[in-house]
Amino acid sequence: MSDLRFKSVEEASSRKAVKVDLPKERVDQYYAEKVFNRQKMFQYLPRTTYEALVKAIDNKEPLNREIADSVAEGMKRWAVEQGARHYTHWFQPMTGGTAEKHDAFIEHDGKGGVIETFTGKLLVQQEPDASSFPNGGIRNTFEARGYSAWDISSPAFIVGNTLCIPTIFISYTGEALDYKTPLLRTLNAIDKSATRVARFFDKSVKHVECYLGWEQEYFLVDESLYAARPDLVLTGRTLMGHESAKNQQLEDHYFGAIPSRVEAFMLDLELECHRLGIPAKTRHNEVAPNQFELAPIFEEANLANDHNLLLMSVMNEVARRHNFRVLLHEKPFAGINGSGKHNNWSLGTDTGKLLFSPGKTPKRNLEFIVFVSNVMSAVHKHNALLKASIMSATNAHRLGANEAPPAIISMFLGSQLTQILDSIEKNETDSIILEGKEGMRLDVSQIPDLLIDNTDRNRTSPFAFTGNRFEYRAVGSSANCASALIALNAAVAVELDEFADRVEKRVASGENIDKVLLDEARENIIRSRAIQFDGNGYSEEWKEEAKRRGLDTESSAPLMFDKYMEPSTIDMFRKAGIFSEKELEARNEVKWEMYSKKLQIESRVLGDLAINHIIPAAITYQRLLLDNVYKIKQLFDESTARKIGGQDMLTIEQISEHMSAIKSLVEKMVSSRHIANRKPSERDKAIAYHDTVAPLLEEIRMHIDSLELMVDNEIWPLPKYRELLFIR
Ligand code: ADP
Ligand code: MG
Repeated sequence: MSDLRFKSVEEASSRKAVKVDLPKERVDQYYAEKVFNRQKMFQYLPRTTYEALVKAIDNKEPLNREIADSVAEGMKRWAVEQGARHYTHWFQPMTGGTAEKHDAFIEHDGKGGVIETFTGKLLVQQEPDASSFPNGGIRNTFEARGYSAWDISSPAFIVGNTLCIPTIFISYTGEALDYKTPLLRTLNAIDKSATRVARFFDKSVKHVECYLGWEQEYFLVDESLYAARPDLVLTGRTLMGHESAKNQQLEDHYFGAIPSRVEAFMLDLELECHRLGIPAKTRHNEVAPNQFELAPIFEEANLANDHNLLLMSVMNEVARRHNFRVLLHEKPFAGINGSGKHNNWSLGTDTGKLLFSPGKTPKRNLEFIVFVSNVMSAVHKHNALLKASIMSATNAHRLGANEAPPAIISMFLGSQLTQILDSIEKNETDSIILEGKEGMRLDVSQIPDLLIDNTDRNRTSPFAFTGNRFEYRAVGSSANCASALIALNAAVAVELDEFADRVEKRVASGENIDKVLLDEARENIIRSRAIQFDGNGYSEEWKEEAKRRGLDTESSAPLMFDKYMEPSTIDMFRKAGIFSEKELEARNEVKWEMYSKKLQIESRVLGDLAINHIIPAAITYQRLLLDNVYKIKQLFDESTARKIGGQDMLTIEQISEHMSAIKSLVEKMVSSRHIANRKPSERDKAIAYHDTVAPLLEEIRMHIDSLELMVDNEIWPLPKYRELLFIR
């Protein structure tokens, strides 16, 4: 086995950057060439079809079945010209990632042959035999099959030889079985409620769009080294490995020069992104060794999320061309930073205004305060839910693990915005905001200048205001961003609706609208102050303080999921029209199930590695030492022998202790698993895995990592951290 390690180190070290063929055209020539966007629709569809389709997309209406055949025909013609041979409905099951089932563009021609065809029926709706996707019992309960239906707001695209059609995935009785359906529902809800509030300020507003700009962090590992680590292959993270003498302490990786093999990979990836219409823009090294980031220009949230999911699968493909493997796991290596996916989130009107961005007039600034205060209030009320929405077995290693976002949701607003909110709370700004007169103590019309200077950033905050948007940083690197967006959008939509209700009621009773708006914003600020925290989110004091403030500090993932079933959550999702109680229940079942399964796999893999890889290596080394000590004893007198061989004797004993500890802990882990597996509910099972299996993984690892420091390097079977993290 150690042969494999050294062979893989040799292979990895000798690799050169793979040459990337640069396109001859300018980027605008090949950008979105693999996307059936409006330009292609115009080119490939009859005019009436084109117009009907574009109208349906713009008005967020379903596609008229009568034109579906015509759309399918044009789409197929384009796709076949691009070399596509298959098509698939591309959907987002609750397991995470995306799912596809490919079909060829063929049909019997009735004469023993086939014809190339693609009908509207196949484009619009399909029934993937998806019974094996987890559905939390929804399909048993409703005795219904699931079907996928085209989301016309996200354009079809080609990957390899396959035309991919973005779809929602729901049961026949209408329950969502995926992430896209509820995301679309929340986008609709927030459009309605935010438009209502925005119209207090500007009657010409008809729609509010939600924007998402994700930043994807990831690790790269050479494929030979990866292949020599069964834990990486099977679980996506290292279950053992002593930390490297050098890791990120010099902070020399962050924003450093990008290594040449990696740069070639990034270039190749960007080209792929651009061909697929993903506006990849920024790339850089991240804090940890071999950790990197890619960020696109922000887009409408549904499209942005599809692009993120597409990116994750394209990354895997491209990495293989460069003899790398991408690690999207939130915490592939202990002791160094994990990976997240910052979700830059904002709302904007169809009149081109960003609602979290202050403007030049007092009225505009009042609007800014109104929207910010409603977000504060929503995040405050639903802080526990927001945390549950980003929690998973893999993200649990990152949150609260003494680095990147703590397992407490708070909001960072920065000193300038805080100052403004303070003065509003203290009632100092009425006249200013309402009349914008001279001689005021804080000129709110100056907000934009203040915020432009607002460069204070807080890397420890899970939810930060960053000038014209909020940055939800706690989202995991492997997650579907939709989970976080669904919770956030729904909570904010309901908050805005209730705000609008209160304002309308007071205005109807004769109060001045500007005064009411400011009053209600002030109330929001006062009510939700507890959510605001600009200090160090990693500190122990914050944990205590947060508890005092009544924020959720639960750190067990399976228990966090309970928040989805709290009456206030059920009520909020019902009001927003996102989930029924039944759907929430079913989705939680899936979360618990996934949690247990991930831990079960990790536990099995670690058990195998410990017993079949590590202990044999330790025995081999121990035998060498025994041999040495035995020979020393034969050659030297007793006291000399003790002097020369004493250290080895001690090591022999220590190795034995670690080995027997590992063996008994693995046995204990196996029986804990058996007990957990017999629990009557998915929730109980997940709790048992969390409480009894997860701690053993850590304990076993400690013994293995100690052995790694003792055992002869030549014998150690698995690539070490220094090899995984520094060879590229
Ligand atoms: P950072 O300093 O956090 O790295 P960047 O300027 O790199 O910030 O932007 C990060 C992401 O935020 C990008 O995807 C960018 O497009 C996105 N972004 C910028 N403005 C907005 C906005 N108003 N709404 C949503 N996303 C935005
Ligand atoms: Mg950022």
